[in-house]
Amino acid sequence: MAKILIVEDNALNIKLFCDLLAAHGHQPEAVTDSRVAIDAAREFSPDLVITDIQLPHISGLELIRMIRGDQKLARIPIMAVTAYSALGDEERIREAGAQAYVSKPISVVRFAETVEQLLKDEGDKAAVDALEDPASDVGESPGPGEPGGEE
Ligand code: MN
Repeated sequence: MAKILIVEDNALNIKLFCDLLAAHGHQPEAVTDSRVAIDAAREFSPDLVITDIQLPHISGLELIRMIRGDQKLARIPIMAVTAYSALGDEERIREAGAQAYVSKPISVVRFAETVEQLLKDEGDKAAVDALEDPASDVGESPGPGEPGGEE
């Protein structure tokens, strides 16, 4: 079971996504207003964020950038859902920081497979992190040769 935050302004899509995710044993939580999405994500601590791209107020692309720029949320995988796939859309979505992209109207199978793949990738990463982290090492200082600062 994974906690999945959905950001989507269309009620029918929310119902569809929530039903699908619940049917796969997940715990979905939806917000319709992207202006509250960051607060909701901080509170809900989702394992995955699914966001619409065409959103009023704060677009999905902007929201993805905000999540990637947020210290607490930056590592959460993001799947974007969009109605228009113009040339270059997928590139823009990936550049903003989403790992995956599904077009509307969604294929139920592709939607579910993409969710499971993202959750699996995340689990694999966590396992690698655990292996690479010596259990005794509780210090915070980066070891020699590790990339230090961000820009
Ligand atoms: Mn929308």
